[in-house]
Amino acid sequence: MEEKSLDFLFNNVSLYTKERFEIFKLEEDEYHLNKEEFEKFKKYIGINKEKIITYCHKCKKEFPFNIQVKYIDFMTDINFTTENMIITESFANGVAGRVDVKKGNIWGAMPPYKKEKLYNNKIWYIEYLFECTNNSQHRYLMMISIELKDGCFIVRKIGQNPSMLTIKGFDFDKYKNILEKLNAYDDYKKADLSNADHFFVGAYAYLRRIFEKLILFYLGEAKLDDNHMDTKINFVKDKFDPRIRGLLKNLYGILSKSIHELDEDESKEYYIYLKTVIDMQLEYMNTEEEKEKQSKRLGKILNEIAGLIQ
Ligand SMILES: [Zn+2]
Repeated sequence: MEEKSLDFLFNNVSLYTKERFEIFKLEEDEYHLNKEEFEKFKKYIGINKEKIITYCHKCKKEFPFNIQVKYIDFMTDINFTTENMIITESFANGVAGRVDVKKGNIWGAMPPYKKEKLYNNKIWYIEYLFECTNNSQHRYLMMISIELKDGCFIVRKIGQNPSMLTIKGFDFDKYKNILEKLNAYDDYKKADLSNADHFFVGAYAYLRRIFEKLILFYLGEAKLDDNHMDTKINFVKDKFDPRIRGLLKNLYGILSKSIHELDEDESKEYYIYLKTVIDMQLEYMNTEEEKEKQSKRLGKILNEIAGLIQ
């Protein structure tokens, strides 16, 4: 599995998601350092890292971003060269155990630690400022918390601005007129929002609802033999973009599965599929509407000309 870096934390992790690192493992009443987990933790919070790569929503392109970091509730040494997380009580006249998050090492009292010496339920915060290397005015902000609990460091993204949605750049209003006719504008927005937050089951559920509304819109007052989805789809299939018509049978197979049967991966896959179909259809409706307007305009002009030459 790929190790999660600060790039991943910024680009792919949704707000309030926790990541646990079991840095100290309890064995016979002593906490022992798990070096591998410690390395993973350092990578995740970006110790010694100078840049991340992310999409700049102003440059409309991926760029490296410089990283500036602000530490909150850390202990700064007298020369401001280090930032420490104090993780143990002081004991045996020595300095308490601490993690230097600038150098990425542990110093002072060294592990293993007696169970009662390692702190529990302590919390620190780090604020990151990311600056686009193409234009230093383009800045992103992210805030995380690090909690020490039962020997684990729990890292949680607690803030991000602008939101992932702005960074990834969604264009909700492109099909606003049509979506409002279907009474599906909110569903469309929520589907994208859920997807941006990696909540795929929810995102897919919203898309299904849009698709159902689309079918209802085309059905209008029509009376059908039964109420099955395939009967409905069959009845309105001519209203779809010709490129979609052939896919509708497959689509029905997907739609007939209950949301509760789907796991995250399936939901994600179906989301992408259904999103493509819906966007294609919205585009098609847009074009058809334009053609209609155009032909009305032309019809009016032709009438006027006919009036002139009578
Ligand atoms: Zn930029």
